[in-house]
Amino acid sequence: MARDIVIWPHKVLTSATQPVTDFGPALEKLLSEMHEAVIEAKGIGIAANQLGEPLRVALVGREDGTFFEIVNPQVLERSEDITLEEACLSVPEAWEKTPRFKKVKVRYQDKTGQWHEVEAEGRLAHVFQHEIDHLDGHVFVELLSSLKRSLIQERMKKLQKALKRKKD
Ligand SMILES: [Zn+2]
Repeated sequence: MARDIVIWPHKVLTSATQPVTDFGPALEKLLSEMHEAVIEAKGIGIAANQLGEPLRVALVGREDGTFFEIVNPQVLERSEDITLEEACLSVPEAWEKTPRFKKVKVRYQDKTGQWHEVEAEGRLAHVFQHEIDHLDGHVFVELLSSLKRSLIQERMKKLQKALKRKKD
């Protein structure tokens, strides 16, 4: 069974993650656990802190169902405002229109430490922004109105209690 996904609000989701310096077997293991979790949850992206690991690592889903493995990513350029429906594995069943950029240019390392640059547009750009935000300690609900955010927060608190009861 895949590792549990952390539900928002939680400190590991609202704190910036640490850069990866060790490109060894621990990183390889984390990436395979992230693949397992995102596939089981039928997600299109996941950040390491969603599994409780405060490291700058994420998976970003391509249209063909495969994933970019991004380590220590940085957004180099952002352009054209757009509003898109957004959801998150850490905020189950909340779909909300969220302000984003249509295009981004991202620099990242792969699991061997080699640097790459990618220009993304549309859905792919959207997933890059969402996952890199996670690594910076931000969840998409922060981009919503405070009313919407507090309604979602109430729902998530109830969900966390229910999940905890199931485990105890
Ligand atoms: Zn998310």
